[in-house]
Amino acid sequence: MEVLLANEYGFCFGVERAVEMVEGALEVGSPVRTLGPLIHNTQEMQRLECAHGVTPQVQAELEKRAAQVVDATCPFVTRVQRLAERAAKDGRHVIVAGNPDHPEMIGVVGYAPSNTFVVRDADEVANLPALHAPLVVSQTTLKLKTFLEVAEAVKAKADIEPQVVNTICSATRDRQDAARALAGLVDVFYIIGGKHSSNSIKLLAVCQEQCPHSFLIETEDEINPADLTGASRVGVTAGASTPNWLIDQVIKRLRGIAATRNFSSTD
Ligand code: SF4
Repeated sequence: MEVLLANEYGFCFGVERAVEMVEGALEVGSPVRTLGPLIHNTQEMQRLECAHGVTPQVQAELEKRAAQVVDATCPFVTRVQRLAERAAKDGRHVIVAGNPDHPEMIGVVGYAPSNTFVVRDADEVANLPALHAPLVVSQTTLKLKTFLEVAEAVKAKADIEPQVVNTICSATRDRQDAARALAGLVDVFYIIGGKHSSNSIKLLAVCQEQCPHSFLIETEDEINPADLTGASRVGVTAGASTPNWLIDQVIKRLRGIAATRNFSSTD
């Protein structure tokens, strides 16, 4: 039994950077508090929580001095915020294609509250007022097709040609493309990721299209050896919030099962 990894998997640039920043802050010894979960992976959040076991005295001393804010926002998201802020300062309208309820979008609107409209799709552009010199940007995880349709619809409402800046991040799509490329070649596919992580759930759906024996697991304990009966190739990928140490544990377990199989088949 062979274990094959997708070409792109696991932590994206933004998540890796955020985790490193928290680890850096933990090394300094300060109690670290995050505004909401840093990433959608329970095991990784537990690991980071375990990292600051200090005495109450040390904690009390540090808390007196805790005044530093570490901004772990992904630079791709910061770019959208800055673009919106600058355009709004120039008195221009800002159209963001995305989900208005998503925290990323709420953050962007905060940088340009009076000039910004968030629209889910091109149909919603019809409800907007006349637009002045608009800037069109996107939520980082949006589908390109939706973004281009919104940009096209904005043209009809604008007094001059809109400035269109594609701010979509390719990390999610790259992981899906790599999983799709591998799914047709394997008998069983394991997607390692949080059960509530939307990018991991999407990866599962992509794999299931070609490999019906695809499973979303959070840890190696969820591997059921019975699912691997008769499998000659097993694929592995991981969502953008899944740390390498969890991926390594899954691969180790699969290789262990493979070694037992190969041994017993040559017996
Ligand atoms: Fe940044 Fe893209 Fe990762 Fe989001 S998916 S955190 S935008 S690198």
